[in-house]
Amino acid sequence: MNEIQHEFLKIVMQVKAHLEYRKALGVSAVAIPPCGPIPPVARTRVTAAAPPAQEKSPHLRDSGLDAVRAELGECTRCKLHQSRKTIVFGEGNAEALLVFVGEGPGQEEDQQGKPFVGAAGQLLTDIIIKGMKLQREDVYICNIVKCRPPNNRNPEPDEIEACEPFLVKQLEAIKPKLIVGLGNVAVKTLLKTKEGITSLRGNWKTYHGIPLMPTFHPAYLLRNPADKKLVWEDIKKVIAELEKIMKGSNE
Ligand code: SF4
Repeated sequence: MNEIQHEFLKIVMQVKAHLEYRKALGVSAVAIPPCGPIPPVARTRVTAAAPPAQEKSPHLRDSGLDAVRAELGECTRCKLHQSRKTIVFGEGNAEALLVFVGEGPGQEEDQQGKPFVGAAGQLLTDIIIKGMKLQREDVYICNIVKCRPPNNRNPEPDEIEACEPFLVKQLEAIKPKLIVGLGNVAVKTLLKTKEGITSLRGNWKTYHGIPLMPTFHPAYLLRNPADKKLVWEDIKKVIAELEKIMKGSNE
C-alpha cells in the first residue's frame, strides 16, 4: 500500500469511527452542508431519493417530548410566568444518550426561547463541540425551570416544585444513558441533596438509575475561569463513559 492509499484508508477509518460514535449517541442522520448549485441531473437524483415530506428525522420525530410540551401549554403554574417572554422548554435530540440540565433561562434564552444561547451557553456549546467533539443537536439541553427568574435570581423552592415534574417527564421521555447536572440548583434539585456543587462535582451520582455527573454551571465559569480545568476533568469522565456505552452498543 502506497502512502496516498494509506492516508486515504486512515481518513475512511476516522470517518467510520466518528459516524459509529454519533450513531451510538442516537444520531442516525448527518447534515451535509450545501456546496453550491446542484447540477440538474444530480438534483433529480436527490429529489427522487428524498423521503416523503411527512417523514421527519429522528431529531424531529414525534416523541414523548411533544406530549410533555403539550401538557405544559402556556403554563401559569408558578409566578415566573408573569415576567417571562418565552417558555424555554429544552432543545436537542429527543433520543439523546446525554442530557445537560441547567438551572433556568437567562435573558437571552428568554428572548430566543432556546436554552443556553447567551454567554454561558456559548461556553457550554464549546464544551460540547470543541471538548466532546459532538454537536448540540446530538445531546439534549434543558433546565430545572422553564421560565426566566427575574434579574437572573435563583429559582425559588415553590417555582422548582411547580416546574420540576415536567423535567422528570422530559427525562422519562428521552431515556438518556447519562446526565450532566450544571451547577448548584440543578444538582441539588435532581439529587434531592443539600450538599453543595463544590463537594459533589466530579463524582458520579445516580438519578433514577441514570449516572449523573455534577459539575459547575457555565455561568459560574464565566466568573471563575480558573475552574474551567475542573469542569474539563468532569467532562473527560463523561466522555469516557459515553465511549464505554458506545462500545457496548456496538458489540
Ligand atoms: Fe410553568 Fe415552569 Fe414557567 Fe413556572 S417556570 S410558569 S411551572 S413553565
